[in-house]
Parts: sequence; C-alpha cells; structure tokens
Amino acid sequence: MANDAPQAKHNYRTKLWNDWCPGCGDFGILASAQMALQQLGEDPLNVVFVTGIGCSGKTSHYVNVTGVHTLHGRALAFATGVKLANPKLKVLVSAGDGDQLGIGAGHYVAMGRRNIPITLMLHNNGVYGLTKGQAAPTLAKGVKTKSLASPNINGAINPTLLALSTGYTFVARAFSYDAKGLTEIIKMAVAHNGAALIDVLQPCITYNDINTREWYQERIYSLSAEGYDGTVKSAEEAESGEKLKAALTKSLEFGDRIPLGVLYKNEFVPSYLNGMGSTLRGYPGINPANEPIEKDGAPLTDLTQILDKLAIV
Ligand code: SF4
Repeated sequence: MANDAPQAKHNYRTKLWNDWCPGCGDFGILASAQMALQQLGEDPLNVVFVTGIGCSGKTSHYVNVTGVHTLHGRALAFATGVKLANPKLKVLVSAGDGDQLGIGAGHYVAMGRRNIPITLMLHNNGVYGLTKGQAAPTLAKGVKTKSLASPNINGAINPTLLALSTGYTFVARAFSYDAKGLTEIIKMAVAHNGAALIDVLQPCITYNDINTREWYQERIYSLSAEGYDGTVKSAEEAESGEKLKAALTKSLEFGDRIPLGVLYKNEFVPSYLNGMGSTLRGYPGINPANEPIEKDGAPLTDLTQILDKLAIV
C-alpha cells in the first residue's frame, strides 16, 4: 500500500470499503490503532502494519501506512524480518487468536524468546470468523458457540500466560469496545523497546454468541483502578522477578473477573537488536535498509555468477 508523504497531520484512514460485520470488535481495534498512531506523532513513513489471515488480516488494508497482508500464522515472522532489516521502523501486527496461537504458535513463542520490539495486537474472539466460526485456540473447553455442532473438546490457550512465560516484556489486555483504554495501551506498546503483546478481547458478533460484548462487560475490570502496577521500576526489581510472578498470577484470572490493563512491563531486558549487534558489526546502525546496493547505477554485488549458475542452457 502506498504511503502518503509525511504531513503534520497524517490521515491514518484509507478509503477502502470495510467488509467486517457491522458491530464487529475489529472496528474498535482499527480505530484505536489509528488514534494511537496519530497521537504518537510517528512519521507514517516509519510505520509498518503487518497482518495474518482471518478477518483481522484486513486491518492492514485500512491503516494508511505501509501494510503487508501475509500468510496464515506468519505475520510475526514477516514482521521480524521487517524490523531487523530496518530497526528504525515501528512495526505493528494485527492477527487473530487462531492465526497466532494455532498455526503461528511457534512464531508467537519465538517473538517472546527474542524480545523483538514489535507490537502484536491479538484479535481474541475464540473463533475462526473468516471461515464460519470453528473453535479457535482461546475458546474454552466445553463451550458450544452457535457455530459449533458440539461443545469444544480442545483445551484453551491463555495468551497472556504464554506471553509472560516465553519472555514478552510488555503484556497487556484490552477490550475492543473500550477505544480510549486500548488506544493508551497501543501507545505504550509501540513505545516499548521489546516484544509487546496486547490481548484484545474482540467479540465476534456473528459466530461467538457466548463471549459477547455483554458477557465481557459483566466481568472486566481495570487493574490500575485496583492499585495493580505491573511496571518494573529498577534493575533490582527486574532481577527479583517479583513483578513477573505477580503478572503470571494475574494472567490466570479469567472467569467471573477479567483484568484489563498492563499486566507486565519490563524495560530492563535488552532487546533482540542488542543481540544482533553482538554478532553483526555495526548493527543496528548499519543494517540492510541503509546498506548501499548500487553505485553510479551499477549494482555493488555482482549477480552474474549466481545468474549464470541458474541459467538453463
Ligand atoms: Fe468480525 Fe466475526 Fe464478522 Fe469476522 S465474522 S468480521 S470476526 S463479526
């Protein structure tokens, strides 16, 4: 998708027709991401929006920055390549729970292990909406949505627990209909120098008649309103692991009460870019995006030998 030239007030909306079901929770995530980028004042040319496959995959079409709509489960792999090739970019990913915790689960884990500065907005609705509502990895065992012939026989994955236990250094939960709260969390995640997960409770109004907007509204509460503070304040506190233990405990709370807000934020863990810098001389200052590839119109790398090898004669 082409970028507009940088402006004082960039319009993050595109003119493309949006075909999500009216009332879908995806709309709140889209609007919040657009507002967050607007308020952060990032140069839109330095923002890349990556999506996977599913209803959420269309988000990259609706945000007016460079967007990439990738393969099923591979959004984080692609985003990793973008970020490492050009570390100055802010990279945001929108992907569903089926995409990220099913076929893409390996990449989800690797993102935490590596602590790559990427913001993942997980569209968590418990179903594969695009393909008519099959049970996705966050749907609780025994639940029968209207699109299932019988109750779900698979155990559910807890996205925040998995993220915390695999090394994500920013883990939060938000509700897609709370655009103000979600916008603030996206801003924090984008500014964070490490792997950031936002587990966004995003009701699928068409196929999940159990975890509805009302179902969540009866259960959600604000962590900060109850005095919870998941931010690690010092290297000593990071070392002690106390905040991580508290966040792990909090992440298990998902039933009659569901906490929203920042579960964990730790700026004291070096990001993957530091690790790359120890193996690649000059990185991240010298990176693929700013390496010259030609001089006076001629490529610096002689490709003729490679092409000769590939030639079919
Ligand atoms: Fe949203 Fe569900 Fe419709 Fe997909 S099928 S657009 S997730 S309401």
